[in-house]
Amino acid sequence: MADAFDLVVIGAGPGGYECAIKAAQLGLSVAVVEKRDRLGGTCLNIGCIPSKALLHASELFHEAGHSFEGMGIDVGKPKLNLKQMLAFKDEAVDGNTKGVEFLFKKNKIEWVKGEGVIEAPGKVKAGNRTLETKNIVIATGSDVAQLPGIEIDEKTIVSSTGAIALEKVPGKLLVIGGGVIGLELGSVWGRLGAEVTVVEFLDNILPGTDGEVVKNFTRILKKQGFALKLGTKVTKVEKQKSGLKVSVEPSKGGDAETLDADVVLVSIGRVAYTAGLGLDKLGVKTDKRGRVEIDAGYKTNVDGIYAIGDCVAGPMLAHKAMEEGVALAEQLAGHYGAVNYDVIPGVVYTSPEVASVGKTEEQLKEAGIDYNAGKFPFTANGRAKANKTTEGFVKILADKKTDRVLGVHIVGVNAGEMIAEAAIAMEFSSSSEDIARICFAHPTMSEAVKEAALAVTGLPIHM
Ligand SMILES: Cc1cc2nc3c(=O)[nH]c(=O)nc-3n(C[C@H](O)[C@H](O)[C@H](O)COP(=O)(O)OP(=O)(O)OC[C@H]3O[C@@H](n4cnc5c(N)ncnc54)[C@H](O)[C@@H]3O)c2cc1C
Repeated sequence: MADAFDLVVIGAGPGGYECAIKAAQLGLSVAVVEKRDRLGGTCLNIGCIPSKALLHASELFHEAGHSFEGMGIDVGKPKLNLKQMLAFKDEAVDGNTKGVEFLFKKNKIEWVKGEGVIEAPGKVKAGNRTLETKNIVIATGSDVAQLPGIEIDEKTIVSSTGAIALEKVPGKLLVIGGGVIGLELGSVWGRLGAEVTVVEFLDNILPGTDGEVVKNFTRILKKQGFALKLGTKVTKVEKQKSGLKVSVEPSKGGDAETLDADVVLVSIGRVAYTAGLGLDKLGVKTDKRGRVEIDAGYKTNVDGIYAIGDCVAGPMLAHKAMEEGVALAEQLAGHYGAVNYDVIPGVVYTSPEVASVGKTEEQLKEAGIDYNAGKFPFTANGRAKANKTTEGFVKILADKKTDRVLGVHIVGVNAGEMIAEAAIAMEFSSSSEDIARICFAHPTMSEAVKEAALAVTGLPIHM
């Protein structure tokens, strides 16, 4: 029967497409239902990839205007061609989504275009087709969280989707929410000339991040020109002829004030997206936040229906979704598959980057775990000094008794690449001494990881 498969995945984001590819590699017949006209989900179309393309281009624009001269490169004042920069971003999206299409063909995965509805266990309807299958994986991802009373029009009041496609650099950009997406997209437009104000409800940006990292990074952002209004909530955004009037007040109560903006970016988080799947009718349980409830093997309370990625609990990150997709595919094909949730790195792709894996100092204190901390600043790293990229540090937290590495936190240029070293070490249950005894190439920013490891129980060399 043409419409029968071993596995039907709904949603072709990083969770869904990796699940499909791994399952096909392991011999299952697979169809993926995707309603967008391109594969790759939020991540490739409107998330990770386009935002990183803009971060890259805007950083080089900023560098050209600020640091080239000091390196002896006289190119004059750079002129922004925003249309071309947006085309550069679109090319990145195009290349990546086509790449997934190629992988589907290579692995004989059928892309069924349309919105998937689960009619019953083992039965998915998409357009005029009904797919029969042994297993259904819900990988429908997430959507922008809305602020009640503030209507996103994707022109002047935008979500991240509108913020990666603005046709003009706003004079004043007001970002609601000091999380990863707000700070990354705030950085893009700040580098291109916008005056950026971030309004954050909590007393700090980047909730859940190591406190020392937040303190250091907050100082760096302020130096870059970010205005941070912490412990403040936005109550109203009014459209006026001359722009937007934003009403804010202290989160804990107090005097209200108004701020002017040309564009407001609402980036207060994302919510699980399962609309239209038919979960209620099937009796698939969701939690208070609308996330699909699953067991340790990603199975919902209904046999034959599984869920992964942003639509289930856990960090809303592409690589977390990918790992879940692969682990589940392995299980469905009769193999062992699991995700180590203690070692999921998180990166903020600003400049410098902020990257973490494992526990923060606050989490270790709360859990009553005794630890040693080793820290090394990039001001003492040869490569950073040569490149004039000395902001930030590496911090390693290791168990006081066993010396096992429990958390690594980096603020610095290329922190997002360096954190992989820490993740590898932690996956192998490394001690800080193990890292300290590894030979790192010189001169690299990574040497700061070795020096921080040396600092855990002894002394770094270069301090
Ligand atoms: C601006 C931005 C920047 C980001 N940057 C990063 C980053 O740098 N690193 C990182 O790790 N994460 C980043 N993220 C988060 C990342 O994009 C998500 O964690 C990731 O995409 C989740 O993957 P997923 O497969 O669970 O779902 P998604 O990528 O959301 O994909 C779900 C897919 O399911 C489809 N779908 C939904 N319902 C149906 C249906 N009924 N039928 C058919 N198809 C359906 C949707 O169209 C969508 O294509 C970013 C997000 C945003 C918005």
